[in-house]
Amino acid sequence: MHSKSSPLDFIIVGQGIAGTVMSQILLEQEKKIVLIDDWNYSASSKVSAGLYNPIVFKRLTKSWRVDELLPFAEIFYKRLEQQLNERFFFRKEIIKLFSEENEKIFWLKKAKEEGLKEYLAEAIEEVFFPESLNSPLGAGNVRKAGYVDVKKMLSIYREFLRKQNILVEEKFNYSDLLIQPDQIEYKGIRAKKIIFCEGFRATENPWFQWLPFKLSKGEILTIKVEGPCPDQVINKGVFLLPLGNNLYKVGSTYHWEDLNEQPTEKGKIELCEKLERILKIPYQIIAHEAGIRPTVSDRRPLIGIHPQHPAITVFNGMGTKGAMLAPYFAAHFSLVLEGKETLNKEVTILRFWNG
Ligand SMILES: Cc1cc2nc3c(=O)[nH]c(=O)nc-3n(C[C@H](O)[C@H](O)[C@H](O)COP(=O)(O)OP(=O)(O)OC[C@H]3O[C@@H](n4cnc5c(N)ncnc54)[C@H](O)[C@@H]3O)c2cc1C
Repeated sequence: MHSKSSPLDFIIVGQGIAGTVMSQILLEQEKKIVLIDDWNYSASSKVSAGLYNPIVFKRLTKSWRVDELLPFAEIFYKRLEQQLNERFFFRKEIIKLFSEENEKIFWLKKAKEEGLKEYLAEAIEEVFFPESLNSPLGAGNVRKAGYVDVKKMLSIYREFLRKQNILVEEKFNYSDLLIQPDQIEYKGIRAKKIIFCEGFRATENPWFQWLPFKLSKGEILTIKVEGPCPDQVINKGVFLLPLGNNLYKVGSTYHWEDLNEQPTEKGKIELCEKLERILKIPYQIIAHEAGIRPTVSDRRPLIGIHPQHPAITVFNGMGTKGAMLAPYFAAHFSLVLEGKETLNKEVTILRFWNG
């Protein structure tokens, strides 16, 4: 797996979307890596819908840095699909069902704005899929949205890592890490740097206790509808993401207490109530899952090199938007690690370091 004489470039801890994308970016740059992951079943990435939406619906503004993040993410996922010879990245329009007349008026105004019109369609659907959906006030259409089947991508990528013989399938034990200024060693594996991508479990990491995670639990259903339903993503209070064969993901809840990974009756009821305000046809629940998002107090990623241990680094805080954020910021961080770029001030962990 590694040579005794020369250290690897990186050990990566965690194979959620953050660790997976980071590994791929580094491998594309011909870096030598090993990834350690214990494949926590309900890790946020594995229950994620993988949706990316260029629009913040509350204010009808563009999502943070979407003009840079989105094209980068699309090219990255397509390239990875080609490499692995599998499909897990899909473009899908999002149909926003209106809740009140003013929302429609606001939409039409915003859709004319420079910068927004490439994402918001100007034409309004007067009713949308009336045979199955409650849409009496019509709907607006978001372009350039889509989703990544994250669970599938991670499983395929895991197989790829196994075949390359660069995956260690076990829990990383922090007390076994030997730290020097210019390298680290973990159970005989030496590397120039370690990149921690543990998702919400970073709260157990002894070197990053000062990072202000504000974790949020999310629950999500998979349902089978009994009747015709659209092939676009539907949004109103919850989203309905079509998976084919009448299957849809319905999500998600946001809760900041009871941070465990168990699906709850309360979460299920909340999702079903919101769903039934949209859906007119019967459905069955096929699956109910929960995960904990690595959300952060200021809602920006947590990326950087530990200020006291240059060999220890972190790539985390993808929050509610791992699918869209991870590719761009993994590429950016890889250049920072090579000294070719300066870390973006909005994402650097140093914004929280008080010495
Ligand atoms: C219900 C729900 C719906 C969501 N929907 C969306 C969505 O539609 N679009 C979107 O972009 N985002 C969505 N998200 C958020 C998204 O899932 C997160 O942004 C993303 O998953 C974070 O990925 P991560 O790799 O940082 O963490 P994780 O997915 O938690 O991965 C961390 C990995 O590290 C491993 N690990 C941790 N500690 C150790 C250790 N000590 N030793 C070994 N391995 C370790 C874990 O086993 C795991 O495999 C959703 C989240 C939830 C919960």
